[in-house]
Amino acid sequence: MNEQETLLLKLGEVVLKGLNRHVFEDRLVNNVRRRLRHLGSFQVFIRQSTIYVEPQSPQCDMEGAFAACRQVFGIVSVVRAVPCEKSVEAIVSTARTYLAPHFAAARSFKVESKRADKQFRLNSIQISQAVGGALAEAFPAVAVDLHHPDLTVFVEIREKHAYVHAPAVPGAGGLPTGMGGRAVSLLSGGLDSPVASYMIARRGVELEMVHFASPPYTSQQALDKVLELARLLSLYSGRMIVHVIPFTQIQEQIRTHCPEEYFTLIMRRLMMRMAEAVAKKAGAGAIVTGESLGQVASQTMAALGVTEAVTTLPVLRPLIGTDKVEIIRQARSIGTYDTSILPYEDCCTVFTPRHPALRPRLEAVEEAEGALDVEGLMAQALSQQTWYRVGPDGVRQAAQ
Ligand code: ATP
Ligand code: MG
Repeated sequence: MNEQETLLLKLGEVVLKGLNRHVFEDRLVNNVRRRLRHLGSFQVFIRQSTIYVEPQSPQCDMEGAFAACRQVFGIVSVVRAVPCEKSVEAIVSTARTYLAPHFAAARSFKVESKRADKQFRLNSIQISQAVGGALAEAFPAVAVDLHHPDLTVFVEIREKHAYVHAPAVPGAGGLPTGMGGRAVSLLSGGLDSPVASYMIARRGVELEMVHFASPPYTSQQALDKVLELARLLSLYSGRMIVHVIPFTQIQEQIRTHCPEEYFTLIMRRLMMRMAEAVAKKAGAGAIVTGESLGQVASQTMAALGVTEAVTTLPVLRPLIGTDKVEIIRQARSIGTYDTSILPYEDCCTVFTPRHPALRPRLEAVEEAEGALDVEGLMAQALSQQTWYRVGPDGVRQAAQ
């Protein structure tokens, strides 16, 4: 009998039919394989809308694999299960040993069975009765309670084996990375943009990050923080490229030549234009930002309109209707909060106007911007960008 734990990953959104479903499943299996590559040798395959992750040696990092699989988009839940022979006796004996710690902590239990293999001679109710009866005898201190049990023992009869497990834990949900095309995401060091990036990535979109840095006003630590945020996001979305574009000269030019009330807006418009340039090169179909309506002066409706007027790409703002409290909750739950609140300066905070325009008119901003050589400044900044390849295991600066 194979006593080694296996992971069973349940798929979400598989209401997809026909060809789409195969694309979804193939993509997901590949994404899972890629994510497990550094954690040992695993066999990963799909049967009946469940992905099996079978360790091939005792050296496999099962804790790591469990955590990694929970972060793969497209998976709604994950269980750690032990496979055994397809007989009531084997199932009972597996449950007795594997779930002994759970039984020790419970006052009541029930068995829930699923028969994916319809050839199996007992139906699911009969399996639950037989296994439940034997377990009740084995653990006389734990009562059977079919309505509100402390512990539910799950039994699944599948193609090759039966599987015994405790309840499933939630996975990341969403759609497999790569299914939703590609977008460029504007990543600052704040709380919002990592959450916004996560939300779009969760819809299957592969992200390429763009960060604007203003040394010496912004420090190496501020840049490291942004790269760490990208690394944390890559735990979900897989490897990504981060473009770091120097922004100092542009900000200084804006400060010298433009009215103070438009500083932030003109800055944003240059960010958008450069994001669009990166997107065109990367074959990306949208720009993602962490903007939320009314949060700051540059995020009023009028300001957003002035900002996005420079691009024809759709600007995705998944946080547009959220409150800061919700964003913080989400940042905590995806694991970016602690890094986001590190107190390093951002390029925007360095040049914040005292009285920003709340209801800017596009024509007025365009006129103010006319004092700049926009094309020249952009070309220069883009030519001086640096790239980083960021993955769960770290950050590497890429060759120019
Ligand atoms: P965040 O918490 O994401 O920094 P914020 O509340 O500070 O957002 P702003 O500073 O106004 O808001 O920025 C709005 C959006 O513009 C950000 O969510 C991000 O998408 C983008 N952005 C701002 N600064 C930068 C930067 N230095 N590099 C790349 N994108 C940026
Ligand atoms: Mg910010």
